[in-house]
Amino acid sequence: MNAADPDTFDLDAPIFDPDAFRLTDQERELTALARRTGKARFAPRAAEFDRDARFPTENYRDMHEAGLLGACVPKENGGHGAPFRTYMMTAAEIGRYCGSTALTWNMHVCSCLWTGALTDDLDMTAEQRAKHMERRAVHYARILDEGAIYSQPFSEGGAAAAGAVPFSTSVRKVDGGWLINGKKIFASLSGHADYYGVLCGEMKEGARPSRRDTMYIAVPARAEGVEVVGDWDPLGMRGTVSRTLLFKDVFVSEDEQLMPRGVYYQAASRWPHMFMTLSPTYMGIAQAAFDFTVKYLRGEWPGLPPVKRRMFPTKQMGVAQMHLMLEQTKALWFQAITEAGPDPSREQMLRAWAAHYTVMENANEICQLAIRTCGGQSMLKTLPLERLYRDSRCGALMLPWTAEICLDRIGRESLYLPGEDDT
Ligand SMILES: Cc1cc2nc3c(=O)[nH]c(=O)nc-3n(C[C@H](O)[C@H](O)[C@H](O)COP(=O)(O)OP(=O)(O)OC[C@H]3O[C@@H](n4cnc5c(N)ncnc54)[C@H](O)[C@@H]3O)c2cc1C
Repeated sequence: MNAADPDTFDLDAPIFDPDAFRLTDQERELTALARRTGKARFAPRAAEFDRDARFPTENYRDMHEAGLLGACVPKENGGHGAPFRTYMMTAAEIGRYCGSTALTWNMHVCSCLWTGALTDDLDMTAEQRAKHMERRAVHYARILDEGAIYSQPFSEGGAAAAGAVPFSTSVRKVDGGWLINGKKIFASLSGHADYYGVLCGEMKEGARPSRRDTMYIAVPARAEGVEVVGDWDPLGMRGTVSRTLLFKDVFVSEDEQLMPRGVYYQAASRWPHMFMTLSPTYMGIAQAAFDFTVKYLRGEWPGLPPVKRRMFPTKQMGVAQMHLMLEQTKALWFQAITEAGPDPSREQMLRAWAAHYTVMENANEICQLAIRTCGGQSMLKTLPLERLYRDSRCGALMLPWTAEICLDRIGRESLYLPGEDDT
């Protein structure tokens, strides 16, 4: 066993057993790669990034070297071309070892999914598609050749990230490009991404702002007028460095457009499973809390005296409860990510919200049970459990599918058919 060499590292069992879940060859390979890299490289560094609320730069270097930055870059552009489900399971494996790395990697990978596999399913004119293919190739080359990192700052503190109103970060067409003004909060990878993939509302002469005019544009981090402000000292997901981004008259060239006009609105409406991409991190955290508990109670956690606690029926009950929650979460989540695609049915949407809610809430509940079951010494900062617990608390807060919003949609959609009201 050699911590420096991921290929010889003693691996944890896969979250989704490749034979039992009938994974594709690519899913087997990418999830194994994520596990090897995560266990050997990310796990030993996770405590430090958390303690210092520092961005996991070293992990990104490793991901570039391992080809993981290009996981969802289409094959014809030189990447792995991983589709949605493959990405989701690969990200869950990373989440087991470092939540902040998995969550920020999600922001990066989404820039490839939105522009890649997903837009291939959407309607565009032949001219739009040709231009889009040309532009996305530039973004993908930056990622593969230079190790460029993309982020996804959508949130503004109001209802826009929930999908209820247009974004107030504005963009105006000017000669040769776009002029962007506004503010994004909780912008993970602030000061560390090379490009911020910003959602903003196009200001059109004489027209009111509309969600249909949402633009998705890559703003180079070094562009004039871009500023990172504010502190970052949160409860959990501390390595994400999700500070505030300000854009003041930022000019970006036309080719930084990540999608043609009008296509983001179509993407968000027709491919809503994309909003589940925030969940795999927490699927991984749930698995990690369970794995820790088993090792700890068996007296096998590295570095601790071999004290066994597994013989107490109360501990066995706690582990059983955790196991039930983990299996329920995995089964529902696997089904939802398997059926993800364009234009989902009402039933598929209900399942997607249920799966998302279940992962986010159960991850935290499983961590809570892990601490209660393992006992006092398990929550010391020298062990990963208290970090998993703090990180797991963040999942339910993420827009657009917060736990509250999932409940709201599930309740309403279960009781009303499309077009129905009570008048
Ligand atoms: C660790 C971490 C990393 C993050 N990284 C990113 C990132 O990289 N990019 C990004 O874009 N965001 C990111 N976020 C932000 C996240 O997605 C949410 O936008 C943020 O947590 C919302 O905080 P808030 O206090 O404004 O929440 P809230 O007050 O709960 O929500 C904000 C607004 O959303 C609307 N809203 C809330 N609930 C409902 C509802 N039930 N129905 C209708 N509207 C509702 C309301 O207008 C509300 O004022 C991150 C958050 C965390 C915790």
